[in-house]
Amino acid sequence: MSTLSASRLEITKSTSARKCPPVNELVFGKTFTNHMLTVPWNIESGWGTPKIEAYHPLSLDPSAVVFHYAPCLFEGLKAYRDPKGEIRLFRPDKNMERMNASAHRLALPQFDGDELIKLIKKLLEIDQEWVPSEPGYSLYIRPTLIGTQASLGISQSTEALLFVILSPVGPYYSSVVKPVALEANPDRVRAWPGGSGSSKLGANYAPCILPQMESASKGYQQNLWLYGEEHWLTEVGAMNLFIVLRNDDGLEVVTPPLNGMILPGVTRDSLLSLLRDHVAGKNSLPLPKNIKVSEREIKMGEIVDAANAGRLVEAFGSGTAAVVSPVDRIGYKGSDIKVPVTESGFGEVAEALLNKLKSIQWGHEEHPWSVPISS
Ligand SMILES: *Cc1c(COP(=O)(O)O)cnc(C)c1O
Repeated sequence: MSTLSASRLEITKSTSARKCPPVNELVFGKTFTNHMLTVPWNIESGWGTPKIEAYHPLSLDPSAVVFHYAPCLFEGLKAYRDPKGEIRLFRPDKNMERMNASAHRLALPQFDGDELIKLIKKLLEIDQEWVPSEPGYSLYIRPTLIGTQASLGISQSTEALLFVILSPVGPYYSSVVKPVALEANPDRVRAWPGGSGSSKLGANYAPCILPQMESASKGYQQNLWLYGEEHWLTEVGAMNLFIVLRNDDGLEVVTPPLNGMILPGVTRDSLLSLLRDHVAGKNSLPLPKNIKVSEREIKMGEIVDAANAGRLVEAFGSGTAAVVSPVDRIGYKGSDIKVPVTESGFGEVAEALLNKLKSIQWGHEEHPWSVPISS
């Protein structure tokens, strides 16, 4: 059985190389670079030859399992251009770890994450002109793994395809930051104990679109996903959730724990770690020192009580696309809970974290999380 190996890479350069369009014309996820990476897998022989070729449509049998039973998982990370022009990845090892965890959940094959990082670096090197240098722009990387055998049988995938495509993307925020309004509707559930919400599976996202459309028709941009009779908060849209409370002894930053219903976000983990380091005096954010950082369950009753007592300070989502996305309103049981935001559109905690993480991601400061592709 062959393992995934970057040393077997075969490269066939595109003969019709396109140029990256002017970045102000980019629409998220609509433009792709000249090349893509594919690696086939087969249950008998293991991982096949990794290939970088011209970006091209896939050809699959209509009975391919992915079209019927959704063995499909994905990752999302970005390549950033630093002030010296070097291209950097942000904690790609975390994405590889999570991709293997998702693959395990779908009985799809495991692979050596370091080898896939090498292949992604190679792909980035070939399409390096597509990593924008304009501030706030980056190149979104989409690794995907699907089951491909032609069969209507529901069983373990015997054939699979791993592929990686690249898409230049603009800043999540144009000049003005518009905080989002959330609808917390307990009738819609994204994830549940023992389910698959903690894996990045394609099948977790399609069912979230209709609830999102329904919320949008009522003037809310996103869903605040709740779970259970107690209306536990889990995530917001396709982002992790942070709540900031003012307690008697200072601020508390709360995010739900990794209890099987929460996607283990790389941004979530990074924000928690930046806050903990700040409290321990290991880095400094423009925030008070006495912050309690809590991974704990939090329910809607607590949000309502905190808001009524003037102790609800901030709410924001976290994810690779936006880093943080501030919330200014939560619709719940027929009325709106107001969440304060400052003039910048953020709260104090969200803004401090955003600036710090952006500075690391774009290589404005040296940090072990930020890895140049030449390394
Ligand atoms: C991808 C994703 C996130 C954020 O993960 P990051 O690694 O921070 O981008 C959060 N929640 C859901 C449901 C996601 O799919």
